[in-house]
Parts: sequence; structure tokens; C-alpha cells
Amino acid sequence: MGEDSRCWGNQSVRLSGKKILMTAAGQGMGRASALACAAEGAQVIATDRDAALLDGLSDAGIETAQLDVTDPQAIKEIARKVGPLDGLFNCAGIVHHGTILDLSDDAWQGSLDVNVTSALRLTRACLPGMLERAEETGTASILNMASMASSIKGFVNRAAYGATKAAVIGLTKAVAADFVKQGLRCNALCPGTVDTPSLRGRIKAAPDPVQAEKDFVARQPMGRLATVDDITPMVIYLLADESRFVTGQALLVDGGVTI
Ligand code: NAD
Repeated sequence: MGEDSRCWGNQSVRLSGKKILMTAAGQGMGRASALACAAEGAQVIATDRDAALLDGLSDAGIETAQLDVTDPQAIKEIARKVGPLDGLFNCAGIVHHGTILDLSDDAWQGSLDVNVTSALRLTRACLPGMLERAEETGTASILNMASMASSIKGFVNRAAYGATKAAVIGLTKAVAADFVKQGLRCNALCPGTVDTPSLRGRIKAAPDPVQAEKDFVARQPMGRLATVDDITPMVIYLLADESRFVTGQALLVDGGVTI
């Protein structure tokens, strides 16, 4: 562990000295996490499929790069370009709405590609460098974006989403088990319903948007949606040395859904 990062009681240096790559950082929780980690002193490389969404992040000292996580070659290139990392946040994910009867093979494959295979490929590409960093500093951390809709809890119309997010948790545990002795940690983040641009899109696309929003809120016992700022403290924690004894976990920030 580096000297700076050992001072984790000091809020301003929680991620000092850490180089962290993030996917889907153009909006929603990815963008908020990039900003929050940079504010905690990390060197953040923020990527997204849509480069225009990354505008403005450089004002916060964040490096940006276009990356479609379904492009295996682009993943290899960015891993080579960024070099050894202390942190990797696989945040990219898409929601397919529907039951298994509404799920075409193509839609299933698309959900697998973005939600699971991307995390596998990025982890595989970045892992050698992260193990080097773990050997030097004592720790490196991978964070995978799962959801409470996964192996944790079933929701209606989330067949592909729930199954692929469950696979993310399985992948997380496998990586954690394989590399625990080398100082590499791997955890999954499982948020509740978070107010982000894609959630707003799902509400807008519903036959009755007012009722759809009410339904999303109703599944949150706290009576409100999460904001991205409810989630970023857990992102920082899991990427920081504070969580150095935490690995292989699916950590819920769900506002009480699973009480
Ligand atoms: P969002 O869905 O609003 O934004 C997602 C971002 O991902 C966009 O910037 C988009 O351009 C990018 N993206 C989509 N496909 C991509 C690809 N192939 N390659 C690279 N980038 C791509 O943001 P969000 O709602 O915060 O979701 C982020 C993650 O959190 C997803 O994995 C999602 O499944 C998960 N999640 C969301 C909620 C929620 O309620 N919003 C709850 C639990 C988990």
C-alpha cells in the first residue's frame, strides 16, 4: 500500500496515487463515479461508447477516451494504452425490458455482450498490469456493476437483465477467488433503482409514464429513487484501500428493497 493511500482517515487522499479506468462514464452512475473518484485524488480515465457524453469531464482533470465495450480489439488497445491500473470499474450495462417470452436470441446476446462479456474482456486485458500494481502497492481493485435485479432478487420484465447481472456476480466471485492471494480484490456493486438518464428513458417509453415512475418509486421502501450521489460513496469505498479486507462480495445499496 502506498504511503498516501494508507492515510485513508484523511478524506482528501482516499484515492490519491490510484489510476482507475471506468466504462460507461458518460452519464448516470459512471459519470458521477468518475467525478467523485477524481475529487478523491484518483487519476481517472473515463470512457464511454458515446464520446460526446464525456464532454466536460476534462475540466475536472479526467482523461477521456471513446470505448465501446463490445469491441474486443478496442478493449485490448485501451488496456495497453493506459498501462498498469490500480482500479477498474466495469460500469457498462443495458436493460432489456421483457419476460423470457419477449427475448430474442439477438437481444439475449446483446445483453450478455454489454453486461457480462465486456467485464470479462476488460478484466482479462487489464489484469496482468493490475497484478503488477498489487505486487508493488499491496492492493488493486476491480469493481463490477451488477444490480439488486440479479441473483439477489427477481423483478418482472427483467429476464435478460437479471440473468446477466447474476452472471456479473458469479464472474466477480470467480475473479476474487482466483487472485485473492495476489492482492487483487474484485467486488460487485448492486444498486437499487437509481435516477439516471436511462431510467428516465425507460419511464418515458412506458405506456403510462406517470404510473411507470410511481411503480419504480413504489419498489423502493424509502419512498424515493436513489440519486447517483447515494451510490458513489460505495464506489469510492470499494476502489479505495479502506475496503482492503473486502473481496468477492455483492454489495447492495438498495434503499431497503431486500430488507
Ligand atoms: P445510464 O444507463 O443512464 O448510462 C449508461 C452509459 O453507458 C451511457 O453513457 C451509454 O453511452 C453507455 N454505454 C451503453 N452501451 C455501451 C457500450 N456498449 N460501451 C460503452 N458504453 C456504453 O447509466 P446508469 O443508469 O447509471 O447505469 C450504469 C450501470 O448501472 C449499468 O450497468 C446499469 O445496468 C447499472 N444499474 C443501473 C440501475 C438504475 O436504476 N439506473 C440500477 C442498478 C444497476
